[in-house]
Amino acid sequence: MENFKIITSERGKELVLLNNDKYSYVRTRKDGLMKWKCSNNSCSASLLTKIDKTFHSSNGKHVNHASNNNEKIERQILRENCKRKAEENTSTRPLKIIRTELLNSDLPNIMNNDITSVRKAIYDKKRKQYPIYPTSLNEAISQLKNIQNNDLCMFKSAQLEICR
Ligand SMILES: [Zn+2]
Repeated sequence: MENFKIITSERGKELVLLNNDKYSYVRTRKDGLMKWKCSNNSCSASLLTKIDKTFHSSNGKHVNHASNNNEKIERQILRENCKRKAEENTSTRPLKIIRTELLNSDLPNIMNNDITSVRKAIYDKKRKQYPIYPTSLNEAISQLKNIQNNDLCMFKSAQLEICR
């Protein structure tokens, strides 16, 4: 099936994309087929996939909303792929992650200002992985102790050692 793929939502959930319409997972039926419903709440179009998430059939027409445009969908795909890569490769610079992702994926409608917003999304994501700013020396030390086994705070590839 053309224009059918599985993408990731902003909340990290899987979505089905068919002809630029997004579908959220509803349930797996007794016959093993998975049911997905149009992500637009006021629309009842749905589709079925097989258990390996390949296309099976679609049901109903889309009503009450316009289809998403290519730019918007491609921006979402790029942003979510880059966010995932940034989590896996914490020391790689965001711009490098974006460039690699652009080279390896088929996203012909991505514009320069889309890259800026993707870059911001990666930085926001990274920031959430770090602790909040400490307000005292004691707090700073206890925060460091809490994260010393976390590979986010590797220093020159060695684990951070804190004096006790
Ligand atoms: Zn719809």
